[in-house]
Amino acid sequence: MIIVYPSHHVRHRPPSEIFNGESEPHAEVPERIEQIHAALRDMSGVRVTLPKRFPLSWIEAVHDRAYVSYVAEAGRLAGSTYMYPSVFPYAGHGEVSNPIALRGQYAFDLYTPVSSTTYQAACGSAMAALTAASLVRRGDIHAYALCRPPGHHAERSRMGGYCYFNNAAIAANYLSHRGKVVLLDIDVHHGNGSQHIFYERRDVLVVNIHADPSEKFPYFSGSAQETGVGKGIGYNMNFPLVLGTTDEAYHPVLQQAVRHIEKYAPQYLVVSVGYDAHIDDPIGGLRLSTDYYRRMASTIASLGLPTVLVQEGGYNTGKLATVAKTFVSGFMQ
Ligand SMILES: [Zn+2]
Repeated sequence: MIIVYPSHHVRHRPPSEIFNGESEPHAEVPERIEQIHAALRDMSGVRVTLPKRFPLSWIEAVHDRAYVSYVAEAGRLAGSTYMYPSVFPYAGHGEVSNPIALRGQYAFDLYTPVSSTTYQAACGSAMAALTAASLVRRGDIHAYALCRPPGHHAERSRMGGYCYFNNAAIAANYLSHRGKVVLLDIDVHHGNGSQHIFYERRDVLVVNIHADPSEKFPYFSGSAQETGVGKGIGYNMNFPLVLGTTDEAYHPVLQQAVRHIEKYAPQYLVVSVGYDAHIDDPIGGLRLSTDYYRRMASTIASLGLPTVLVQEGGYNTGKLATVAKTFVSGFMQ
């Protein structure tokens, strides 16, 4: 297993997220990736590498060019302070250029601020996913990109849920030039961004297993009825789970997802790996055990597909090292 570690992430450290008008400590901290990296680098069978540079066009293939420029430009304007949106678009608006309006146009929540370090970190995270995808395409069977900031909530032109560029979608789109791809998302939150980006496509099947969005972030997407549009009908699958779902109830759902993936017969698999479905995650809501992450990983690995693992959420910094190690060892079994 090759681990791709984007070192620039440490400079992206939003101090707070805003909930109900209150400023709370930001849950998406650099320690998350530092701990996972430290836990994995010494495992036998693991090799760590740094991201390579890829053309920006790979990011712009899944995000609007104007949005990508906005993330870069807004950061320059913000300097070292983190900027938050305050007004969001409403019906009938035309083109806007006011900086306050743009903050709302390109974001959907108050959890995802931008500063001068954000763009570099977000690009580094995307490059890590591309590096992992290129290694897998070249013939290394599995690679794991320790992406931070995470990506699966980022839509084509909106940041949100701590995500700026959709790393997993960028990797999946990159691989789709060589064959059919499945993007399996096991983060506890619905990957609204990945769904949004591939909703009209059938060359990338998106499969999401997550906490019921009527109870949990991102609230506005993730129901089982969302199956794609146009050519993409039938190529988006959501498996929402009730809060408190345990290992025993989760496993048959994962097996069902795996059967759908087998039937689709992809060339490559990209997995959005979140550890926030763990029982001890502070913002998750499901009750998966540490041991289950081994079984989950070996079930996914049993597909026998060249696989890119892309880090998404997981917020218990006291547990991430153990859970990540358990997952990776299950994957390499
Ligand atoms: Zn999550």
